[in-house]
Amino acid sequence: MLKVTNANVFYGKIHAIKDVSFEVNDGEVVALIGANGAGKSTILRTVSGLLRSRTGIIAFDGKNIGTMPAHKIVNMGLAQVPEGRRIFLQMTVMENLEMIFSHFPRLKERVKQLAGTLSGGEQQMLAMGRALMSHPRLLMMDEPSMGLSPILVQEIFNIIQEINKEGTTVLLVEQNAHMALSIASRAYVLETGNIIKEGNAADLLRDDDVRKAYLGN
Ligand code: ATP
Repeated sequence: MLKVTNANVFYGKIHAIKDVSFEVNDGEVVALIGANGAGKSTILRTVSGLLRSRTGIIAFDGKNIGTMPAHKIVNMGLAQVPEGRRIFLQMTVMENLEMIFSHFPRLKERVKQLAGTLSGGEQQMLAMGRALMSHPRLLMMDEPSMGLSPILVQEIFNIIQEINKEGTTVLLVEQNAHMALSIASRAYVLETGNIIKEGNAADLLRDDDVRKAYLGN
């Protein structure tokens, strides 16, 4: 579904992403794990068309999206941060909202609340619900666990799994390697802009280097 080949991304002279190649197949949950500053967000921003790779190819469904404007990439079914008003056209307004509330019952209780007064976890749910409104085939998530309590992290990851079971492919970027690897089928390990390891998530969870560097044991 998504195939990134030899991406090199720069911020001025800073070489943030170095010859990165990875792929996400239909139906998978793929995790990109790595420490602060490894380049995880830069990769997502490059795939969604907000940054450009100087080299290589970013292919979505076999089409090179590496030069396409971000809003066209969203139209193709790839969502990171949703843009525009994309909704489920074949459903009523209420059905659209009910679909979102079925995943996020906490939001239903808070429909009138100002978004800025929601808790961190509720804000994460709202951001996910909004991204789902564009009905993406590939949903890219940047650190969904950030700043959340362990119980909320578990809840958010359960929802990601539900969304995946309903047919949405997921590319997940996380510092919380343990959670990410526990729901991913495959994962890539990113270190200072390079992919240094890749494999089945279950194998990486048992990998000595990964355990030492990212799992704290
Ligand atoms: P974090 O988990 O802390 O969000 P990350 O893995 O997502 O980290 P990126 O945000 O992709 O990392 O950053 C990768 C590298 O690029 C870092 O060294 C960062 O300092 C640098 N960088 C990111 N954004 C910019 C920018 N706008 N200008 C210059 N350098 C940047």
